[in-house]
Amino acid sequence: MKMSYRLCDKVVELEPYEPISGTYKIRLDANESGFNLPEEIKAGIKTIVDNMSFNRYPDPTAKKLTAAFADYYGLDPENITVTNGSDEMLYLLASAMLSRGSRVVVTDPDFSMYSFYSFLSENEILSYKKNKDLEIEIDELIRYVNDNKADMVIFSNPCNPTGRGITAEQARKLVKECSETLVVLDEAYMDFWNESILKEADKYNNLIVLKTASKAVGAAGIRLGFAVSNPTITKALRAVKSPYNVNSLSQEIGTCIYSDKKLLESRRDEIVKQTKVLYSGLRKIADNYKLPIKIYEPCANFIFVETDNAGKIYEFMLENSVAVRYFRNAGAIRISCGTKEENIEFLVLFEKYIQKNILKTNR
Ligand SMILES: *Cc1c(COP(=O)(O)O)cnc(C)c1O
Repeated sequence: MKMSYRLCDKVVELEPYEPISGTYKIRLDANESGFNLPEEIKAGIKTIVDNMSFNRYPDPTAKKLTAAFADYYGLDPENITVTNGSDEMLYLLASAMLSRGSRVVVTDPDFSMYSFYSFLSENEILSYKKNKDLEIEIDELIRYVNDNKADMVIFSNPCNPTGRGITAEQARKLVKECSETLVVLDEAYMDFWNESILKEADKYNNLIVLKTASKAVGAAGIRLGFAVSNPTITKALRAVKSPYNVNSLSQEIGTCIYSDKKLLESRRDEIVKQTKVLYSGLRKIADNYKLPIKIYEPCANFIFVETDNAGKIYEFMLENSVAVRYFRNAGAIRISCGTKEENIEFLVLFEKYIQKNILKTNR
């Protein structure tokens, strides 16, 4: 008798990634930029569309885009690999750059996609637990990586979701002392902080630094990710990616955006400023009402808050058409910085929730 096809065991129970569905007036759940592209850039994109050869494959090395990105960050274009969002690179790192059973160190808590792609690629995942303040103890992490003879260590700096980070000096120490391990430093949020080692990425033979257009740059919709590394690693990354991974339109639009340094810098500065306002607003409410919650001081464009009421606050916000991110297991919410007005609306709602609930139950 013939047997019928069955899904491979490891995918049977997987669910498709589902961001918050439904439409909400204010979206502070995905760490995106609160700013859409300005009209001048949109007008430029219309001209690009008119002149585009849609019948041709895109440039596999994304030369123009790589040049604009390299110029913005002060890098050598030869050391850059462009992917369809950092996500594509994360998958390549786990699958093509490692083998089944390769040992990957991730940190906990951190961006969940690292373990997800390692799971799909059948790597062995080793999880380093951060300290009680959710910080990496760098010497501990170095020892953990070396004791376990890890093939790769990957983490975000600053970290999503905590918003905390290690210094450039600590990052260098890790890269040097874990010399037999590929270190992948995801600097997705480093535009908002000042501890980058991006410019030194090509000086080490075991380092890849990741960047994305999805956060500070405000272009999550066109899916652009960048890996910066020495020429040997870069050659391998370019060789394993699918040749036409980044579509022509995204390459052109990305080139326009990265060429506009003034726009990028002014928006980044505004986001940094508004994140501080949001943080101090939250702190003030927490102090005024003596709330038993922990608010992490942000090095990025979002704020991580641990509270017993995380689920209830999340629901209350949704009812008021504001989406934040809820971490059920951690008992925490993460609030992305939106526009000034959006942040104020969040703070007003937050205080309203506190007045209605916690105060009453405390009396
Ligand atoms: C948002 C985010 C990214 C970006 O992913 P893209 O696929 O480029 O949108 C990468 N790393 C971390 C830690 C993130 O939070």
